[in-house]
Amino acid sequence: MANYDYDLITIGAGSGGVRASRLAGGYGAKVAICEEDRVGGTCVLRGCIPKKLLIYGAHYADYMEDAVNYGWTIEGASHDWAKLIANKNTELDRLNGIYLRILRDNNVDLKEGHGVLVDDHTVEIAGERLTAENILIAVGGWPTMPDIPGIEHVITSNEALELPALPKRMVIVGGGYIAVEFAGVFSSLGVEVTEIIRADNILRGFDIDMRTSLFEEMEKRGIKILAETVVESIEKQGDVLSLRLGNDEILETDCVMYATGRRANTDGLGLEAAGVELRDNGSIIVDEMNRTTQSHIYAVGDVTDRIQLTPVAIQEGHALADMLFNKDTRTTDYSNVPSAVFSTPPIATVGLTEEQARAEFGDVDIYDSNFKPLVHTLSGRDERSVMKLIVEPKSDRVVGCHMMGLDAPEIIQGVAIAMKCGATKAQFDATTGIHPSSAEEFVTMRSKRPDPE
Ligand code: NDP
Repeated sequence: MANYDYDLITIGAGSGGVRASRLAGGYGAKVAICEEDRVGGTCVLRGCIPKKLLIYGAHYADYMEDAVNYGWTIEGASHDWAKLIANKNTELDRLNGIYLRILRDNNVDLKEGHGVLVDDHTVEIAGERLTAENILIAVGGWPTMPDIPGIEHVITSNEALELPALPKRMVIVGGGYIAVEFAGVFSSLGVEVTEIIRADNILRGFDIDMRTSLFEEMEKRGIKILAETVVESIEKQGDVLSLRLGNDEILETDCVMYATGRRANTDGLGLEAAGVELRDNGSIIVDEMNRTTQSHIYAVGDVTDRIQLTPVAIQEGHALADMLFNKDTRTTDYSNVPSAVFSTPPIATVGLTEEQARAEFGDVDIYDSNFKPLVHTLSGRDERSVMKLIVEPKSDRVVGCHMMGLDAPEIIQGVAIAMKCGATKAQFDATTGIHPSSAEEFVTMRSKRPDPE
């Protein structure tokens, strides 16, 4: 039997790679993980966590405005962007330290440098060649942008999290998760934000009522959304950026951020040499056991382009470590995966959209609620919450649940448990509400929306 340096070498120390490696180490396997950046990956260093800290920071602008009608006098409030960024970075350092400790505590060797597959059992890291019986690719993704003239002048979410100062005006291109989340942050902090989307609506793939409601709320907050608009080119004159739009109009701004999707980080990894096949978009093809086309090489997380969410990558990494070193063949369940867009206000969702449910079941029953949350009856803020349940009438099962509004992510996480258990509308109705709350609407929706003509 071949003698390898390691039982498992993982390339990429993000959420999925760290989970798989530290569990494998904990099960007694000999494990190394290599990383060319700091340990933590997109979620900890450039994604979910820093983004959410900026969102928390931005929300204080709303809280202060809303507090006035609750009797508060707030004078002389101002925001220090540099302080927020510095404090956010201190927190990221702390998290990075926790990740390092977790790896150490589970006897995982950290190898710093870019890992390249030399052959299907050998990884070269900073000039050192190491062999492993199993290899895991967990290198994640990176922002991708269209190749238009002047694209070198734009930033992505990576740089937006590190801006030295807030611009006066900002253009955000894209209508996905990242674009709408950052539009909310910068606009709350006083930046004049214009969002440019090529489609007629934001958040393709989400339920139509959530998309339309968030579009309206964003516009109410002063975010200008230019729909069905493309950017042809960008020119920089001094500090001003001029965007030539598809209709030949020129739009001037101080900062342009692109959030037009992310691509798997598979270039320069030596995957072809190791017999690992990719899709046209660069992502790695895997089966339900996270196995690539080379049977002892595995991949988890964004690099596989299944569902690009941290908790999914973690589940995949967990399942892989269990399968390889803990005699477990559990697979990741991709049904009813809840997700949230931390827009302002946020959206959260689990299950099917109305469009998907109609395609799958034909007729479906829709229950919805559109209301001003209690907190805003006094604050005076013109912001609504929208909730929607989609029910398959034959079984009475709730197959989709969507919310736009305050606390949506916190509320939908609980509803996702009910949906995972196959809850019926009758069981939702039999649940006692928590009063007064927005969440109680999900158990008090009694009237069906009339069927479409
Ligand atoms: P998304 O895939 O969500 O959205 C990409 C957006 O860019 C779409 O609006 C798309 O338009 C638009 N677009 C794509 N190509 C072009 C182009 N050439 N010109 C103009 N517009 C273009 O990508 P994101 O970058 O926002 O996020 C990447 C992934 O990261 C998400 O899919 C999500 O899984 C994950 N993520 C999750 C978060 C969360 O859970 N809260 C937060 C942030 C990211 P169109 O609709 O027309 O295709």
